[in-house]
Amino acid sequence: MNSPIPFRPCWVEINTHYLEENYAFLRSQAGSAAECLAIVKADAYGHSLRLCAPAAVRAGARWLGVTSVEEGVLARSVCPDARILVMGGVFPGQGRAIVDNGLTAVVWDETQLTELESAAAGASPRPLPVHLEIDTGMSRQGVSLTELPAFLRRLSATGSFRIEALMTHLYASDEAGKATSSDQLERLKEAVLIVRGGLAATTLQPEFLSVGASAALLGEDAIAVQTLAREFNLRPMLRLGLALYGLAPHFDPAFAPGPEPAALRESIGRLQPVLAWKTRVTSVRTVAAGAEVGYNGTFVATEPLKLALLAVGYADGLDRQLGNRFDVLVRGERAPLVGRISMDQAVVDVTDIAGVQPGDEVILIGHQGGETITALDHAAASGTIPWEIFTRIAHRVPRVHV
Ligand SMILES: *Cc1c(COP(=O)(O)O)cnc(C)c1O
Repeated sequence: MNSPIPFRPCWVEINTHYLEENYAFLRSQAGSAAECLAIVKADAYGHSLRLCAPAAVRAGARWLGVTSVEEGVLARSVCPDARILVMGGVFPGQGRAIVDNGLTAVVWDETQLTELESAAAGASPRPLPVHLEIDTGMSRQGVSLTELPAFLRRLSATGSFRIEALMTHLYASDEAGKATSSDQLERLKEAVLIVRGGLAATTLQPEFLSVGASAALLGEDAIAVQTLAREFNLRPMLRLGLALYGLAPHFDPAFAPGPEPAALRESIGRLQPVLAWKTRVTSVRTVAAGAEVGYNGTFVATEPLKLALLAVGYADGLDRQLGNRFDVLVRGERAPLVGRISMDQAVVDVTDIAGVQPGDEVILIGHQGGETITALDHAAASGTIPWEIFTRIAHRVPRVHV
């Protein structure tokens, strides 16, 4: 057999040991009553579902969360025993794959019930567990309180389903001191009361109250979720993504008028970023004063400069807007990106860094020397959020397990 071709030097390193430690820390923060579902949707936020889903299971996760049935099938192939929650809906023709792969669907629409019911007929002896999502204010997915009684009648009509969890998504947990989450939990409580009052059959009564993402756990919302769950003898389920990958969500003071929550402060010292993004210097050149760099010459050398070419571009997921606006790490020092970022290449100014040569490792996200660049830094420079920074690192960039 031929050995694989060595890859072009633009790659991501995934430290699954850090992921396991992050999971253990988050579980200790959540308390023993809570179930901590590990979110591995969107290829584990670009970190590789194949690497990260088994690591989460090794760390003790019993539940994994994915967006689609397709992602669920992939998760099942590497995690034979985990419960796998498909959060983004079951589409026509996908019900059979839910049943055959033992996936669990989030439902909020009658067409989803119909699809699941016809797939389960004959194939699945027990009622199919589903997680019922309630729209408590985000207006994205979920059954509204007004539609809930009719939806429950439809759901219970055929004996096909078991409501394993009542679920909702808090959409402003990163705004400490705002009333959005408590308003949402008030509506969720009404939903619980409707379910309790409207369904006699115990098989339909949920076991979990599935509420809250990373910002809920590291902010203060998780406490209110646990109180609500206890009141109804339900088990809280938290669904953790960003923090699992080692980043605490940013509570922007301008955005979040309240004080920074204590759990958030503690987590910043404890969570370890799972992903590092690296490239290498391809070649080094010196240019004279007046030289233009990159497309359209948006950077002009005002003195002789030493420039290093990097094997990374916007087709790898490096935001084209970062040209002339962001640094990377070379030999443990900050080197500014100069000129426009090309599709497959970028140029940095290494005039002030001694000894730079082809083959030198360059950090886009990670540590080198005493310096660090995080996905939060990329997000701040690009006017976006770290979730987008991670998920747009292109598929062609190999994920290497370290
Ligand atoms: C992605 C997602 C989460 C995880 O969010 P983080 O902020 O990354 O922890 C939780 N719940 C749902 C429904 C999601 O889609």
